[in-house]
Amino acid sequence: MEPPDGILGEAQGREKSSMKYLIQGGMVVTPRGSSHQDVLVENGKIAAVGTEITCPDAEVVDASDCLLFPGFIDSHTHFDLKNALAHSPDDFRAGSKAALLGGTTVVLDFATQERGETLVQALENWHRMADGKSSCDYGFHMSFSEWNPSLKEEIRVMEQEGVTSFKLYMAYDNLRVNDGEMYEILQEVGKIGGIVGTHCENGDLVNVLVKEQKAKGNFAPSAHPLSRPDVVEAEAVSRYLRVAGLAGVPVNIVHLSTAKALEEVRRARAAGQDVYVETCPQYLLLDDSHYNAPFEEACKFVLSPPLRKLGDCTALWEALASGEVDTVGTDHCSFTLAQKANGKDDFSKIPNGIPGVQHRAQLLYTYGVGTGRITKERMAAVLSENIARQFGLFPQKGILAEGSDADIVIWDPLAEGVISAKTQAHNVDNTPFEGFRTKGAARDVFLRGEWVVKDGIVVKEGRGTYLKRHQSEYFRKTGK
Ligand SMILES: [Zn+2]
Repeated sequence: MEPPDGILGEAQGREKSSMKYLIQGGMVVTPRGSSHQDVLVENGKIAAVGTEITCPDAEVVDASDCLLFPGFIDSHTHFDLKNALAHSPDDFRAGSKAALLGGTTVVLDFATQERGETLVQALENWHRMADGKSSCDYGFHMSFSEWNPSLKEEIRVMEQEGVTSFKLYMAYDNLRVNDGEMYEILQEVGKIGGIVGTHCENGDLVNVLVKEQKAKGNFAPSAHPLSRPDVVEAEAVSRYLRVAGLAGVPVNIVHLSTAKALEEVRRARAAGQDVYVETCPQYLLLDDSHYNAPFEEACKFVLSPPLRKLGDCTALWEALASGEVDTVGTDHCSFTLAQKANGKDDFSKIPNGIPGVQHRAQLLYTYGVGTGRITKERMAAVLSENIARQFGLFPQKGILAEGSDADIVIWDPLAEGVISAKTQAHNVDNTPFEGFRTKGAARDVFLRGEWVVKDGIVVKEGRGTYLKRHQSEYFRKTGK
């Protein structure tokens, strides 16, 4: 099956930045170690990394006392999302600008195939939302909401279009596939060396437990976590990983939130399976006590999976430090308080999701690196390099090395701030991290050699291009 000519977006062929920059005095951070290095940027690429670079015609950028990270990659955003309950106010224009301010130069957003649609149609829809609007580079994962022979044929078309990662849901009746379908999809995606990430919650149990809460007269946000307890996630993770084991492919788990589910990951890995795990800042830093607040406050925290116990947060920090958790995405999916108020009398009608794409690195740096829970090298891995490797972008993205795209974050480790709905770039009036103090921020950001954020201000917008991605490195590694 061929995609219709000229409909699918190509990289927009923007002129390459002709400016040369020599970024001096910073400390280049990689998962393998950090060292003081200068970075020469030329023609949108990193031309050299070293200690004795001279380039008389390059503009010198002073990065003394700063860290240099590869542009961060957020592998989990939902911009411009429309569902039965609401339409997210953060479209690609607003969301990608917020991303850049936080040092995120690439987002991988979830395109969703609605039932009855082709994958090509879904991809066109997402290109229409993103092309020409995004301020950071972007790619798409493709979500299946059903399975049939023609969708199977389209997986190869997706590969040609640079979509090599896919998503499945085990919850949400309008999105989920059954276990047999999951098995077949994992096998078919495996044939192109792609990788599937799955939302792991047992949808049948969620449906029943929501009903059970309402039958008990519980309609407030405090019923939300009770309707999706940790075992609902752990059971789904266990089943997913057993299906993946049968299919013989590596898989990713998105937004893992519980210690119990982590146990299932350990079991599968001990049995020799390749399993990759993403968590999100909210599961590291927020707990379910927020649901006991009055509706106007508690509704800000309604997302799925829900916030968990403090013990889960601790387990996830440890797993992040040890390497058991591979990546940190945001699951950015923002709604206004007015939209959240749809569920004033019924928690199941509150649109699920929170803003976060702007603050991921600040939160991880402040509460991870700053407290000694993780190293800055680990931060470079989980926010950039591991994501680039998993999703077929490495070494174009994810590393500061000669020949890579000049996506560079000049990180000021001392910049202090406070997260607030009033000052955030997210196009909504709330954040679950309201009042969180931060130390460390992206001072300047380069996107393919263009200086797009200067002193914490976006100075160039709409410069993002679509990224055609290749096979997941993790698939190649397994030699399957
Ligand atoms: Zn999500």
